[in-house]
Amino acid sequence: MLANALTRLDEAAAHLNIDSDVLEKLKFPRETTQVRLMIRMDDGSRKSFMAWRCRYDDTRGPTKGGIRFHPDASADEVETLAFWMTFKCAVMNLPYGGGKGAIKVDPHALSKAELERLSRAYIQAFSRIIGPDRDIPAPDVYTNSMIMGWMADEYSSIVGATTPAVITGKPIALGGSLGREDATARGGFYLIRRLAKELGLELGARVAVQGFGNAGQHIARLMAGDGYRVVAVSDSRGCLHNPAGLDVAAAIAAKKEGGLAALGQVKGNEWLPPEAAIGIDCDVLVPAALEDMIHKDNAEEVKAKIVLELANGPITPEADKLLAQRGIVVLPDILANAGGVTVSYFEWVQNRQGYYWTVEEVHQRLKAVMETEGWAIWQRSKELGITMRSAAYVHALARLAQAIEAHGTQQFFTA
Ligand code: GLU
Repeated sequence: MLANALTRLDEAAAHLNIDSDVLEKLKFPRETTQVRLMIRMDDGSRKSFMAWRCRYDDTRGPTKGGIRFHPDASADEVETLAFWMTFKCAVMNLPYGGGKGAIKVDPHALSKAELERLSRAYIQAFSRIIGPDRDIPAPDVYTNSMIMGWMADEYSSIVGATTPAVITGKPIALGGSLGREDATARGGFYLIRRLAKELGLELGARVAVQGFGNAGQHIARLMAGDGYRVVAVSDSRGCLHNPAGLDVAAAIAAKKEGGLAALGQVKGNEWLPPEAAIGIDCDVLVPAALEDMIHKDNAEEVKAKIVLELANGPITPEADKLLAQRGIVVLPDILANAGGVTVSYFEWVQNRQGYYWTVEEVHQRLKAVMETEGWAIWQRSKELGITMRSAAYVHALARLAQAIEAHGTQQFFTA
């Protein structure tokens, strides 16, 4: 997976006059720690779980990136996600490097108390690696503000000082930022709005959302509220489709109450297998779940003219080429879903200054960054005649190269 991701680096380097030292630094993760966590289960037994934290590169600042809880987590996946975070933070010009963490676990199989013990065990194991000036975790797939709250609490008790800036995506009551909850989707939404004219998107354009977790639900809500027609939303169990447009509020309520399938019976709606989401007839397809959802065997099915990547890595490099050949514009993950880490940065800034912003301030600042970086990347893609993904990598690599050079020729690692 990491080898695949690294092909983007070479592609981007070909468009810049980059020193080979820069590529040598960015080709390998700086450090990946693997730990076996042991917790007490509710029935009194002990159980162990593999866990990782990767600090990929800290040239531009402390490493930053989420922690995912997933049964398929692996060291390779964590390192790849940490590589993407390095570029994502550089795309957005945030003063961070890239990191990522994971526990190999199905969180749905644990009780709430077990989940809390596991979250605390992760921080006990990695307390010397993370820190507000070193490595700052956040939520990712199957982790949320409740888990971040437990983790921040555990860290604070280990170091003996209230330290909210060690983790972002916390509950508001523990120093979380207003506007963090829907920030990933909102960033993508501001990006689409900024580029709507260039992308030829008109009022009533049809949207299909693959994956209906945090990012998927919020993007459906925001786009429906802005006059788009959300014609499909899907999760791991199925795809709810209505060419005339779904009732998004009802879909969110159904998802919370036990499943989207319940709405399959509603007049006009149909309930399809989950994989149908990729080939839905629509203008904007939003993959908002996991990696590799669009691959060489289903890329031909995509009917959308725009793909907004709210998930990390939802398109394989092979599929990426097939979509580009067909003139489909992909708004790439490291730009399109960067609203999440951007508001994480705002949260960290607020924690450090001890003064908190209104939700309007958060939205306005997020909008400004998304529009500035999104527009710059759009321009770069036009100037160089390359995809938005390549342009985003070029944009980020230029910043990373500058920072690597500015550190001097004898210095290799920071914190
Ligand atoms: N997990 C999110 C991402 O992949 C957010 C990371 C963060 O806020 O640090 O971008």
